[in-house]
Amino acid sequence: MEHWDVVVVGGGPAGAACAAAARRAAPGTRVLVLDRADFPRDKVCGDGIAPEALDVLAGLGIDPAALTDGYPGVPRLRLRSPGGATAERAMHRPAAVVPRAVFDHRLLTGALASGTELRRHVVRRVVVHPQHVEVDGSFTAGVLVGADGAESVVRRALGIGPNRDDRLAVAIRGYAPEPPGTAGVQVILASGQRWPAYAWSFPLGDGRANVGYGELVSGGANRAELLAGLDRLLPGVRPEQLRAHRLPLSTGRPRQPDGRVLLAGDAASLINPLTGEGIFYAVLSGALAGAAAGRGAEAGAVYRKALRARLGRHLRHSSTAAWTSRWSRVMDAAFGAAAADQAVFDDVVHLGLADGRLTGRTLAAAARHRR
Ligand SMILES: Cc1cc2nc3c(=O)[nH]c(=O)nc-3n(C[C@H](O)[C@H](O)[C@H](O)COP(=O)(O)OP(=O)(O)OC[C@H]3O[C@@H](n4cnc5c(N)ncnc54)[C@H](O)[C@@H]3O)c2cc1C
Repeated sequence: MEHWDVVVVGGGPAGAACAAAARRAAPGTRVLVLDRADFPRDKVCGDGIAPEALDVLAGLGIDPAALTDGYPGVPRLRLRSPGGATAERAMHRPAAVVPRAVFDHRLLTGALASGTELRRHVVRRVVVHPQHVEVDGSFTAGVLVGADGAESVVRRALGIGPNRDDRLAVAIRGYAPEPPGTAGVQVILASGQRWPAYAWSFPLGDGRANVGYGELVSGGANRAELLAGLDRLLPGVRPEQLRAHRLPLSTGRPRQPDGRVLLAGDAASLINPLTGEGIFYAVLSGALAGAAAGRGAEAGAVYRKALRARLGRHLRHSSTAAWTSRWSRVMDAAFGAAAADQAVFDDVVHLGLADGRLTGRTLAAAARHRR
């Protein structure tokens, strides 16, 4: 049995940020990352990375330019509401679109440079003892961080079930030639037919785009219906490498328990219910978990408090916005208001892709744009 100060399960954005933050908080800390995959590995995703996620990583000493090298920033965003209201504007800062096979490998390599060790290992069993946490009878840890994604084994070991089907989305994505007229534009098209549901096209800058379609699991869609949704909203795209994956939305996030086991990223159901954005939350929660990991049995409580201080208000606002957006006319009004006013557009983007709030300005403008 090997002992480590911190064991991180999962080397995706949450796990990599966590490992880097744990070493930064206390440079002598012995940190082991376990991942079932060999890197580089693919991750089903839209590949859209908010600038705020890169800011978090820069704060951990990981150079954003090295993460996005070769992939030009995407300056504009086009939004179409279920009823057809369209807003297209420059974003306050360009977004990055980098295939996750590339981005996650670069990020994990950056995190390992801080002195973390990586092993390929499929975690199956976690047992919590008063003084340590045991993993598969092979490792013990002072603190264990579950950054093992949407189907987290660590979360299950804590006795926390999956999100309810109406707080869980499923999406399919592939790579296709960039649809005409979308160079330099991230496109998000909502569907009036099976709302809440939407398709996206995010350009990689080399003539290809990541395209996909998602909706709530409670809608009961199978693979063929997801593909039909994609074809309805982005007619004529012929994507390859099609794969689907689930998105545990923050509206169903569990309470972080006290103790030596922390959950970060998708394992903690930290995905924006309005947009499916999860990378910003993953690196932010990973960084906070890493900073708390040196606190032993107090780590769970310290981390829960830090998460609440940093994201609590935003998560309440995005949940409220997601709840009201069930009425598609609310989205029509919000996107109509965003089309008319750059400041409202910026507020909407900040709420959907980072840590923004439902501002009085946006609520007033949306009220004026009700049809
Ligand atoms: C179709 C789709 C589109 C999306 N589009 C976007 C987007 O454009 N922008 C955005 O910000 N977010 C998007 N998301 C959400 C985003 O992909 C996730 O929020 C993000 O990957 C979460 O990072 P993570 O580190 O928590 O988990 P992951 O990236 O899933 O990493 C988890 C890691 O844990 C490892 N692992 C899992 N189980 C075990 C185990 N038992 N033992 C050892 N290792 C294990 C895996 O191999 C993996 O490397 C999308 C999601 C989907 C499904």
